[in-house]
Amino acid sequence: MANLPVVEHWIGGKFDSGSGGRFGDVFNPALGRAVKKVSLAEVSDVDKAVAAAKAALPAWRDLSVARRQKIMFAFRDLLERKVLELAAIITEEHGKVLSDAAGEIARGLEVVELSTSFPNYIKGEYVENASTGVDVYSLHQALGVVGIISPFNFPAMVPLWFIPVALSVGNTVILKPSEKDPSAANFIAELLKEAGLPDGVFNVVHGDKVAVDRLIDHEDVESISFVGSTPIAKYVYERGTGLGKRVQAFGGAKNHMLVLPDADLDLTADASVNAGFGSAGERCMAISVVVAVEPVADALIEKIVERLEGLKVGDGTKNCDMGPLITEVHRDKVSSYIELAEKDGAKVVVDGRSIKADGDPNGFWLGPTLIDEVPLNSGVYKDEIFGPVLAIVRVKTYEEGLKIINSNQYGNGTAIFTNDGGAARKFQNEVTVGMVGVNVPIPVPVGYFSFGGWKASLFGDTKAYGAQGFHFFTREKAITSRWLDPSHGGINLGFPQN
Ligand code: NAD
Repeated sequence: MANLPVVEHWIGGKFDSGSGGRFGDVFNPALGRAVKKVSLAEVSDVDKAVAAAKAALPAWRDLSVARRQKIMFAFRDLLERKVLELAAIITEEHGKVLSDAAGEIARGLEVVELSTSFPNYIKGEYVENASTGVDVYSLHQALGVVGIISPFNFPAMVPLWFIPVALSVGNTVILKPSEKDPSAANFIAELLKEAGLPDGVFNVVHGDKVAVDRLIDHEDVESISFVGSTPIAKYVYERGTGLGKRVQAFGGAKNHMLVLPDADLDLTADASVNAGFGSAGERCMAISVVVAVEPVADALIEKIVERLEGLKVGDGTKNCDMGPLITEVHRDKVSSYIELAEKDGAKVVVDGRSIKADGDPNGFWLGPTLIDEVPLNSGVYKDEIFGPVLAIVRVKTYEEGLKIINSNQYGNGTAIFTNDGGAARKFQNEVTVGMVGVNVPIPVPVGYFSFGGWKASLFGDTKAYGAQGFHFFTREKAITSRWLDPSHGGINLGFPQN
């Protein structure tokens, strides 16, 4: 253990060993053992990063738009060139298969590409002669030093939802990535430097609650963008807004797929398997519940089971479909839900506990699991399991299915599978969920729309990236201006009206 490499902070454009007091283990989940250590920041480490970001702010904020755009373009090119290198880092620490790791980088890249055109989003408005000789116009300015706190499940994509947007409009950034897979953040930091980003504009502090709390509380940090589980999202939102800060806190999910009897069952079965078991179900937009409107359930289950039989579980660097779970503790927790399902009277149709994975026997393996007739009062339905467990709930009507989805505490993503355009249109209108797919199981919006759920899946009213992302990371200033001309004169204590 003593000889394991240490993942250090990145402060002021270079690696920083920090105060060095505490470390966390970074596992390779496919090997089931720690392969690195990560520095866990103390308050003084966060303060140092914030000081670096604050010092870098004036010059970065005032750098010309053209030069900031050039850096974004250079970063985009580097990221695209280094996809495989970054994907390997993600696979080593997260466990997801290489193609999936490359896929998450591609989605992050979309936001980098969007951010090269940031002037379109921060252009102000101008009204001439609002009053005689008076013009009114608006500016959108950077907030200052901003904090980003990200989860383990997308170590590149989720930080990239925010970093390019925040940076391009002139903010300086502190990223606190998940301590479970911290190296992708450092790789991104190095690429940004190589792209020409001045030192101190982007910083990474690794750590846990100590770092998160300090980042929220620090008087020089203007905003917090948080992504993680719902209880922590709520905590971060309340702590940050209690201090008067701008906070967007993305929480957990339980995403339902409503299947109508007229759906194409092969398409639906493919989608259920892809969206239920991709990344071992550790996706905030994974489908975790299929709501089958009868009489569709038996035929659909048969097709899902056929597909599960062909799935290869194993080391993400091999040619497998699904990797291990992030930690042993998490694997055991997910596994405990399969036991609970049996106790609660559900039917375990495919049991992933007996999987023979193509990898080290110590890896944190759990195979795809399909559970039918899950009662709505069971934890298997109610909790976010965040693993390769797909629940089937059978209903008699569309209305019954809709009611279940709308009663759930989460509202991140949902999908309807049907060949009836009218039914799909009714669903998109009536469902209380932030992102909706029609015959698309994981409806993550493209970069120029915005990502975010409803209810306990998002605290705050501003989504990530797209127009809402630029809105979050800027403040509007309205200017009322008059340049004196010879006709001006006189005193008027009222508001000007003409
Ligand atoms: P998590 O809540 O455990 O951790 C998220 C971040 O919070 C990490 O950086 C972590 O270090 C920090 N943290 C953990 N405990 C903390 C505490 N007590 N106080 C302050 N900070 C703390 O989440 P996770 O397990 O890393 O990620 C999985 C969760 O993230 C799932 O619930 C998933 O649905 C959610 N998620 C949501 C979205 C979305 O867009 N809604 C996207 C990705 C992941």
